Amino acid sequence: MKRRTFFRSGIASAAGLTLLGGKSFAGKGLLEENEIVYRTLGRTGLKLPVVSFGVMRSDNSSLVEAAYHAGIKMFDTAHVYMNGRNEEMLGNFFSSVPRESFIIATKVKPAGADQNTGIPTRETTAKDFLKNFDLSLQRLKMDYVDILYLHNVISAEMVRHKEIVNAMLDLKKKGKVRFIGISTHKNESLVINTMAEAGIWDVVLTSYNYRQTYIDDLNNAIKKATEAGIGVVAMKTMAGGWLDKEKTKPVNAAAALKWVISNPDICTTIPGISTFDQLTTDLEIMSDPVLTESDKTDLMAEASLPGLYCNACSNCTPGCPNNLPIPELMRAYMYAYGYSNLSMASELLSETGIKSDPCSGCETCTTNCVRGFNLKEKIADISRLADVPYDLIA
Ligand code: SF4
Ligand code: SF4
Repeated sequence: MKRRTFFRSGIASAAGLTLLGGKSFAGKGLLEENEIVYRTLGRTGLKLPVVSFGVMRSDNSSLVEAAYHAGIKMFDTAHVYMNGRNEEMLGNFFSSVPRESFIIATKVKPAGADQNTGIPTRETTAKDFLKNFDLSLQRLKMDYVDILYLHNVISAEMVRHKEIVNAMLDLKKKGKVRFIGISTHKNESLVINTMAEAGIWDVVLTSYNYRQTYIDDLNNAIKKATEAGIGVVAMKTMAGGWLDKEKTKPVNAAAALKWVISNPDICTTIPGISTFDQLTTDLEIMSDPVLTESDKTDLMAEASLPGLYCNACSNCTPGCPNNLPIPELMRAYMYAYGYSNLSMASELLSETGIKSDPCSGCETCTTNCVRGFNLKEKIADISRLADVPYDLIA
């Protein structure tokens, strides 16, 4: 759906009028307050609609503007997204509206962690982390962010990294950050349980979707976090968006998102929104998130197919003689083919240090994927991107 069509249609039409009229409706929202389903984000006390905006795939400020006027409150970005342009785009738009009328969450990745275990090394320093955060603030044109996540944490050791944790608490004291959190999409249960025990974290951003095979453990960890006052935000809610590389079988996006919201311990979700069609669907769910029987049937049928989403369960890694970071390679594959986001796939590949065809010396694949992925084939496919200069993609 194009922007003009979006503004003419259904519930979105009033947002269009708002924008075209050039009037500020900041904080009021397009839907009536009582039409939107809100939940409270743990001890932060923030009341958020169950749908927020995952900005990572969008460089379109008119989409952000429409979402903002339609009642979406929280916008989630990261230091690395689009090489900084994602934060810049948000900074340009939000500099024209009242600061207290929206919630910004960004993420900064600690440097130097081991790519397979996530254990910090000597290169993991607060200095580097703070330098990147300052740059994020400059790009966002803001004095503070509402939520700062330590990005992509997969080990308990990183959750407890004293130097960085103290630096984040100090940012909070200085008012540069209102709340601190962690984002995780591997070993999520371990990370969340460790956070709950620490007693200092305000928010966790975790992968959460209907395709995860370890969902019981994850639900228990989320429950524990909620009881400890940590607000829970869900990402990767669409589980890759598509079930096949050729994009012939889409995930039922509305059903997948409603499935996530059906867990009352999840405060809000950050589906990636890059089109007005997706925004329209997500706005409808924001006021009517009930999972229907037909939604459940669709999701059960989809769950039986391999799809593009890697659980990051790491069951395959011990069997690989080359010690390849297979979950990260599969995530890059999903970014490329599911989200059509080559820049995120390329950034992730570059973080792993993988060059093209890292399986070439291995005649037969000696490891297996619980989802039945052909790992050798997929790795050969996605690792081709490592040879493409980033500026040709971004
Ligand atoms: S073919 Fe399989 S076992 Fe060999 S390097 Fe690749 S992923 Fe590892
Ligand atoms: S590739 Fe398969 S086995 Fe390996 S982490 Fe992903 S889902 Fe698990």
